Amino acid sequence: MEQTVEKLERTVVKEIDEILGVPLKVLDDGFVRVVDYMGNDSSVVQAARVSYGKGTKKLREDETLIRYLLRHHHTTPFEMCEIKLHIRVPMDCWRQWIRHRTANVNEYSTRYSLAVDAAQRTKPGEWRTQGTTNRQGSGGFLTAEQGTYFTAQESELQESSRKVYNERIAAGIAREQARKELTLSTYTEAYWKIDLHNLLHFLALRMEAHAQHEIRTYAATIGNEIVSKWCPMVWKAFQDYLFGSVELSKQEIAIISRLQAGDRTGARAVAEEYGLVPPPGQEMKFNLERKEIEEKMKRLGIRPPWLDV
Ligand SMILES: Cc1cc2nc3c(=O)[nH]c(=O)nc-3n(C[C@H](O)[C@H](O)[C@H](O)COP(=O)(O)OP(=O)(O)OC[C@H]3O[C@@H](n4cnc5c(N)ncnc54)[C@H](O)[C@@H]3O)c2cc1C
Repeated sequence: MEQTVEKLERTVVKEIDEILGVPLKVLDDGFVRVVDYMGNDSSVVQAARVSYGKGTKKLREDETLIRYLLRHHHTTPFEMCEIKLHIRVPMDCWRQWIRHRTANVNEYSTRYSLAVDAAQRTKPGEWRTQGTTNRQGSGGFLTAEQGTYFTAQESELQESSRKVYNERIAAGIAREQARKELTLSTYTEAYWKIDLHNLLHFLALRMEAHAQHEIRTYAATIGNEIVSKWCPMVWKAFQDYLFGSVELSKQEIAIISRLQAGDRTGARAVAEEYGLVPPPGQEMKFNLERKEIEEKMKRLGIRPPWLDV
């Protein structure tokens, strides 16, 4: 007996087709553009229901299912969607980007071709000071007056390193060796293909406040201008349950539940037990975990008991 096979249709996302190949500008001379994509919100639903064809019930039920999957870290259905991006990014930023091992990458070769003749420039008002509490991050900004000097110095250095590079190339030195004095701000380009599950992981880490500003601007562009159009239901669920959520540890729950019961002394005692605060009367030294808890409590509108006077 002949089997009936349901006809399948390729998933098409009109909003992504409209920006296919269009460079979305990032930083002064960088970009992200969509080269290709596979799947959409309904592919996640389809995989979860292990069904074929459109596999959708009502739109509302699809969204509920996507939100359930994301909330419960049921991740494989999200791996059914893939996206291929063409990116142009400064090498220092790329160095952080390439740490995400779950993507397929092909980078522009400066052994084979001449290095991209562009370096990321910093405007006078954009020079950041070293962070004091987060040793990896930035604090405030230099004054525009101070910044003017460093911007001029940057241009000088970039031009000088490019001049050295060009002279070496003109003298016949191999491109693989000529490049070694190029600045880390030199742009590179890559094709970067990743599935939606791992892309969300990348975005969660790189859109977050602790990530460096430069990679954050790329991640925000990918998230806000691409994923939001490609898989709007997933994007909304990502913001509600992953990116915009607050994760609480066992000790944080113990502190907060005591606070909610009006027991501020007990809450402080828990913090003390976990070494977050010293016994009363002793000097309160910097503690990173305590600072993180304070940030969470601020979002929850809760006043930490150790700030009581
Ligand atoms: C704010 C910030 C600061 C950072 N600072 C530093 C730093 O100072 N020094 C430094 O070296 N790096 C640093 N990193 C990079 C970081 O340690 C990770 O290497 C990077 O974020 C990639 O994360 P990932 O491994 O989760 O992602 P991916 O490589 O995309 O992997 C995704 C997930 O797949 C799984 N996975 C992938 N490969 C393996 C494997 N081989 N074995 C087991 N599981 C695997 C893991 O669950 C992983 O979370 C920093 C990252 C951030 C966001």
